[in-house]
Amino acid sequence: MRIPSDSDLLDACERGRGATPVARALLLLRAACPEHSYDELARLPLGRRNALLIALRARCLGDAIVGVAPCPRCGATVEIAFDAADFGVGSDADADSTEAAEYELRFGPYRARFRLPNSADLRGLDEAGDALAIGRELVRRCVLDVRRGSAACADAQWPTALVEAIAERFGELDPHADITLAVHCADCAHAWQQAFDVGEFLYGEFAARTRRLLDEIVRLASAFGWTEGEILALPAARRQSYLERLEG
Ligand SMILES: [Zn+2]
Repeated sequence: MRIPSDSDLLDACERGRGATPVARALLLLRAACPEHSYDELARLPLGRRNALLIALRARCLGDAIVGVAPCPRCGATVEIAFDAADFGVGSDADADSTEAAEYELRFGPYRARFRLPNSADLRGLDEAGDALAIGRELVRRCVLDVRRGSAACADAQWPTALVEAIAERFGELDPHADITLAVHCADCAHAWQQAFDVGEFLYGEFAARTRRLLDEIVRLASAFGWTEGEILALPAARRQSYLERLEG
């Protein structure tokens, strides 16, 4: 993983406009891991993908992550703060192998082989129906085969308890796939678990950063007649010095 250039981030944020949250997460990751294709990154287990996004965030914008969420009881805006290091991903983390590992689960007379859910598995998933149907469809997409004794077992015959057991194994094997944070409202003392979409959060942060960058480009281009490419090629500190001269 490398630190994306300003130009890479501008590109990722522009392409992410109007894209799905999953696509935005992958566009940002691709800016940091250009040696992997978009499709390869889409096959990373979701927890691994999220951990890499947090490592990217730590490298570009620091370890301390602060967001806000509305309190579901009183509506007050509550700050959510956590540290990138809580996810146990070093800043030298890399996408390394994007080959899906296989796992096995024995459950009563059943033996299931499966891989972990990835970004590609989420495509169109919410069309499966209610939460229960979505969960079952996700398991179906990730299961390689299920056998009962020596006989292959089609998905229509999988008992619900087996599907639930596989879904539970997903969580144990890839704990950062669904990130929830414990939040406490200082106004009304309500406590709850808040889902945290790291891709969307990061996209919001980088999009704000690239908006500021575009403002700077406009100011420097108008003042000195430089092209966007010339301005982006300046080291950040030099760009800042020119901006300060304009203000002074
Ligand atoms: Zn509250």
